[in-house]
Amino acid sequence: MSADESHDYDLMVIGSGPGGQKAAIAAAKLGKRVAIADRGHMMGGVCVNTGTIPSKTLREAVLYLSGFSQREMYGASYRVKSEITIDDLLARTHHVIGRETEIVRNQLLRNHVDILTGTARFTDPHTVLVEGAGRGDHNRVTAAHVVIATGTRPARPDTVAFDGERVVDSDQVLQLGRVPGSMVVVGAGVIGIEYASMFAALGTRVTVVEKREGMLGFCDPEVVESLKFHLRDSAVTFRFGEEVSSVEVNGRGTVTSLASGKKIPADMVMYSAGRQGMTEELGLDAAGVVADDRGRIQVDKQFRTSVEHIAAVGDVIGFPALASTSMDQGRLAAYHLFGEPVRELHELQPIGIYTIPEISFCGRTEAELTAAAVPYETGLARYRELARGAIVGDSYGMLKLLVSPDDHTLLGVHVFGTNATDLVHIGQAIMGCGGSVDYLVDTVLNYPTLSEAYKVAALDATNKIRALEAVERGDQV
Ligand SMILES: Cc1cc2nc3c(=O)[nH]c(=O)nc-3n(C[C@H](O)[C@H](O)[C@H](O)COP(=O)(O)OP(=O)(O)OC[C@H]3O[C@@H](n4cnc5c(N)ncnc54)[C@H](O)[C@@H]3O)c2cc1C
Repeated sequence: MSADESHDYDLMVIGSGPGGQKAAIAAAKLGKRVAIADRGHMMGGVCVNTGTIPSKTLREAVLYLSGFSQREMYGASYRVKSEITIDDLLARTHHVIGRETEIVRNQLLRNHVDILTGTARFTDPHTVLVEGAGRGDHNRVTAAHVVIATGTRPARPDTVAFDGERVVDSDQVLQLGRVPGSMVVVGAGVIGIEYASMFAALGTRVTVVEKREGMLGFCDPEVVESLKFHLRDSAVTFRFGEEVSSVEVNGRGTVTSLASGKKIPADMVMYSAGRQGMTEELGLDAAGVVADDRGRIQVDKQFRTSVEHIAAVGDVIGFPALASTSMDQGRLAAYHLFGEPVRELHELQPIGIYTIPEISFCGRTEAELTAAAVPYETGLARYRELARGAIVGDSYGMLKLLVSPDDHTLLGVHVFGTNATDLVHIGQAIMGCGGSVDYLVDTVLNYPTLSEAYKVAALDATNKIRALEAVERGDQV
């Protein structure tokens, strides 16, 4: 038990998403008295209810029911179900959300974390008022430390009339009444392009409008090109360098007008125009904490805000705004607040983009290495060269390794295709341990697997490096 009995709790956590949950559990495991607040319908956060989990479950339902990933094997007309309804898709999503919510609640209760239902706001730096709709959902509690993990909500341009049916944001897309025949996606960020690819796989004619000249600029350009090729093949039209000037809605559908004069008719429009930090309702003034105009809170390396005993983690602190990183931020913030010795997060972190097909990478890109004048060689494996690629019917996937020609260390790994988001971790582990592709050349991997792509790419890179060395030595052929 904590020594500080002057407060109701040692730690009050606001928000039950991945950051809040892990902060609460880490503190509880240290023997601290912990409470966590969230709105009743949001247990598990954006992650479980409107973001990561529903979108990835929807993707799985789309892939299964549309038979999309089996068409190479069984032909372009292959479907598991000919008429896919929104209920077919959402049944799976609701099932998984229910399960995940239960897991989160159970983990918190098992660790003796008190769950306070309602919206929380500071009334002073150590006091939080939690008010909900239910009888008895009114709690004023004091805490020695506070973790803010309130996440974000979709940003909504004032000029757009969202109605939840014809014009929706990325939260509302999970409440659609039917699968649209055509759709405009405004914003080609990760969320926009993930949903664009899911609807395209369902047969929706999708137009993506993006004011930048391209998309996913932080990824390997070759991989992004491959994705664009695939999406175009699924009837996705890209309008890059274009801005939406208005969206009109009537009983028949929507017309999206672009500043360039183009008009795009579609059944519906989905806006994915960034996200806003959920700080308006927090009463931050009363705590002495400041948020910027995007609702984001600035923190130091230990996730402390400008107020020593108040930390902030997860999407509310901005980049990278991923469930994966939010969890670790929560855990680390709790340890730092209670002075528990802890190692920092490894700076090498993977990025996963669950488009259809999916993308994942870790480490540096070719553009970054070139800009930094770091020499590298590439090693490429195409899934179509792998027995497992043929078995699963993926002929387009690829894995690219970026390798130092000097000491063969792995500088980056870029994967496109089936299981990319899982496969990337092999490269990440090698890089994280300072390993080289020699390990991949000298090791035996299960066969037939997609992991074998690592072996093929490592051999490709080392053969190129060997060829260069032979020329430099002046070896006779
Ligand atoms: C469509 C979509 C897909 C995504 N896909 C992925 C993915 O594939 N992989 C990945 O790693 N990440 C993904 N993300 C991002 C991921 O969901 C977030 O990074 C993660 O949920 C952030 O966690 P968090 O701890 O900040 O809290 P959040 O999950 O954002 O939850 C915050 C919680 O705080 C609560 N809250 C807010 N204000 C208050 C208040 N005043 N009082 C009480 N409670 C409050 C909210 O109700 C909410 O439950 C996706 C996001 C979206 C929107």
